[in-house]
Amino acid sequence: MVRDWSFALNELFTIGKLLEAAIKKLKSTSASPRLDAELLLARALKAERTCLYAHPESKVNSAQEKTFFALLSRRISGYPMAYIMGEKEFWSMNLTVSPHTLIPRPETEVVVEQALLHIPLRATMEILDLGTGTGAIALAIAKERPFCRVIATDISSDAIAIAQINADKLAIPNIKFIAGDWVNPVANCQFDLIVSNPPYIASGDPHLSELIHEPKWALDAGQDGLGEIRKIVFGAPNVIKYGGHLILEHGACQADDIIDLYRTSNWTNITSIKDYAGLPRVIIATYNGSNTT
Ligand code: GLN
Repeated sequence: MVRDWSFALNELFTIGKLLEAAIKKLKSTSASPRLDAELLLARALKAERTCLYAHPESKVNSAQEKTFFALLSRRISGYPMAYIMGEKEFWSMNLTVSPHTLIPRPETEVVVEQALLHIPLRATMEILDLGTGTGAIALAIAKERPFCRVIATDISSDAIAIAQINADKLAIPNIKFIAGDWVNPVANCQFDLIVSNPPYIASGDPHLSELIHEPKWALDAGQDGLGEIRKIVFGAPNVIKYGGHLILEHGACQADDIIDLYRTSNWTNITSIKDYAGLPRVIIATYNGSNTT
């Protein structure tokens, strides 16, 4: 990949020239070639991005150049920037990510927005996040509502370890992570609000092949893409208080099917919310039945 470049590794190059060449190479795989090239070069130089603008004529030494080419090759092969950099911003928090966690998406901030609308600023509510991954949704809520107690579960203990790193790094104390399947680890608790961005892509959906670097278990939800959402909609009543809310992210074509699921299991005020692109991507409902526990 790197060998067919028009210059040799042992030659010294300037920051400006390296960036120019990298941007050209990245155009075929990245929607943001300049940004990617700058972030990767800054990482290779162990410098801030602003330093690249200030010193475009500076020479890069061969060790730095080698590191840059290695990072660049990974990116050109389609490996996500978030995994290369080991971080991704969500809700203005710089989150550590790893291939054990889904990369947080901007549209998931709609789940956080909806949750915050249902939690008064000084409330002391019990909140549950199911399938937390990096901890993105749970950490955002815990940060914005410091008097609430947030519990977040994930089937992957590797993901839980990353989420805990994020809580420690961000110094967010009102949160606890537990490894386990959906509501199982909190079977004896009762929550005011439950949120989740579960897997919801159908096994045969071609979109899955664009996401091969992310954990399959966090994306693939069986034949109709509703396997995990079904478990949550039917399982949440066991751990939710009467009048509590469930907020779920889902795929753009799933709203009607999920509304039907909610209707069959004692949820009311079922409301579909659109994402920033105007697509129905989140459903919120209130629990109106009796608890089974
Ligand atoms: N929003 C992701 C995507 O379509 C999927 C996330 C999920 O399944 N929870 O790329």
